Amino acid sequence: MTTVFTGGAVIIDAHSELTEGYVVADGGVITAVGHGRAAHETLIAADTVVDTTGHALMPGFINAHCHLFQAMLRGIHTTQCLEDWLDNDIGPFLSSLQPEDMYLAATAGLLENLRSGVTTVLENQYVHQHPHNTDSVARAFADTGIRGLIARGGIDRNPTGRLASRLEGIDVYVDQLTRFAGEWNGAASGRIRCEAAIQTTWLASEELCARVGGLLADTGMGLHAHCAETRASVMSTLATHGQREVPYFDRHGLVTPATQLVHCVWLDRHELEIIAAAGATVVTCPTSNAYLASGPAPVSDLRAAGVPVAIGCDGPGSNNGQNMFEAVKWSVLADRLRTLDAGLLDEVAALDMAWEGGARAVGLSGSIGAIREGYLADLVSLDIESPGYSGSSNLRKALVFAGSPADVDGVWVDGLQVVAGGEVLSSDRHHIHRSLQQRRAAIVNHEYTAVN
Ligand SMILES: [Zn+2]
Repeated sequence: MTTVFTGGAVIIDAHSELTEGYVVADGGVITAVGHGRAAHETLIAADTVVDTTGHALMPGFINAHCHLFQAMLRGIHTTQCLEDWLDNDIGPFLSSLQPEDMYLAATAGLLENLRSGVTTVLENQYVHQHPHNTDSVARAFADTGIRGLIARGGIDRNPTGRLASRLEGIDVYVDQLTRFAGEWNGAASGRIRCEAAIQTTWLASEELCARVGGLLADTGMGLHAHCAETRASVMSTLATHGQREVPYFDRHGLVTPATQLVHCVWLDRHELEIIAAAGATVVTCPTSNAYLASGPAPVSDLRAAGVPVAIGCDGPGSNNGQNMFEAVKWSVLADRLRTLDAGLLDEVAALDMAWEGGARAVGLSGSIGAIREGYLADLVSLDIESPGYSGSSNLRKALVFAGSPADVDGVWVDGLQVVAGGEVLSSDRHHIHRSLQQRRAAIVNHEYTAVN
């Protein structure tokens, strides 16, 4: 099926844009990009013509870190640091989550991602009260039409004694990861892919890290891991393992070109050099790091050292939303607050992280993150006659510093339209909303209280 987009602007990538351009997609792949309007013969031959007058077509954002179940936990306590928040607020809730809860929460989170111009989500799922919880999350990806890389994590260490019901043995973790990847890798016409995850140095035993390191070496599988998110995490890793987090992961073969290290707020220079030498990607989550008072990541230092940096919203529980526009803007602003230098990162850097950095994180560099011939047709149409763009002379600067999910009009994944007029076509958001509210109330009023 051939779709032609013509009449409006085209943002090719972080570095270039066409004031007026056209894009042709065929069979889910971009087959032509050019200046001006599409030729008459091209329009006649198309199955669908999308008039983008007053709009800009951009590559879909890649949200490179998320925990979708937390769409059920928006607004949960806000005054605690990460470790207490996980133990006291998030942790007890997890015992109640069943596969249908995971599906509802994941669907709500993915609807918000799509409406925020995101076409690929890197999801880190680690709640396994039921063995098919992660399958339910994958089902939400399949049903909503979004692209996803699902990193299945596990917890086998219980430092506070409050996580007993959520622990998995190492054999169970490896068996379930292998089963899940076997069933879902390449599912939904290739939109869904799978990889491993280590949650943190303090929730994974040394034995689990070593076993996963062996698995990566044997299979070439990618790895997702929270790393140096808080000062307390670094101190605890030093006390427990005698090393900071990056060398500890590296010792177990966990820092590779297919690794995404998430947060990396509290790195020292040696750790930054290990990451750069390994070719791993760092995912910065500036709104989550601010919300949980973890600190600003050294994003400009990482980029100056040649480390690919991607951007994530993190779970909806740790910032209340999946607003990728906020995360992209704050990837720059948080670094400016940290360095007191406004010249280190700009809108080009932000979009490079959101697109090329994100593509690198999910192992699809050269396939997504730009509008070029041969790339997958993951496209977003923005209304650039909305107030945030009025009076601006620079489209990409307006996108980063004044853009909003409210501007997202249409979204296509693999060339198929999944959002029209700002509404996700696959799911009844009113039904999802009401069902999720009912289930959350039931858990909070009954089961959650009982568990505590
Ligand atoms: Zn996280």
